[in-house]
Amino acid sequence: MPNYHYRCKACGYDFTEHQDFNDAPITKCPVCGKEQVHKVYSSVPISFKGSGFYRTDSGSSSSSK
Ligand SMILES: [Zn+2]
Repeated sequence: MPNYHYRCKACGYDFTEHQDFNDAPITKCPVCGKEQVHKVYSSVPISFKGSGFYRTDSGSSSSSK
């Protein structure tokens, strides 16, 4: 199954989704909830380094900084 690259036009959220060929494309942004998500056709996923854009809060949803 391929990974599809999506980007939200509303908030700029950039993500890849693992989907089957028959799955419907994602249109709704998981971050802002707006249906502004477009499929991006690029073979190499963009990686942001150092900006904190891609910070992943692993597990804990506590508001500790
Ligand atoms: Zn969004």
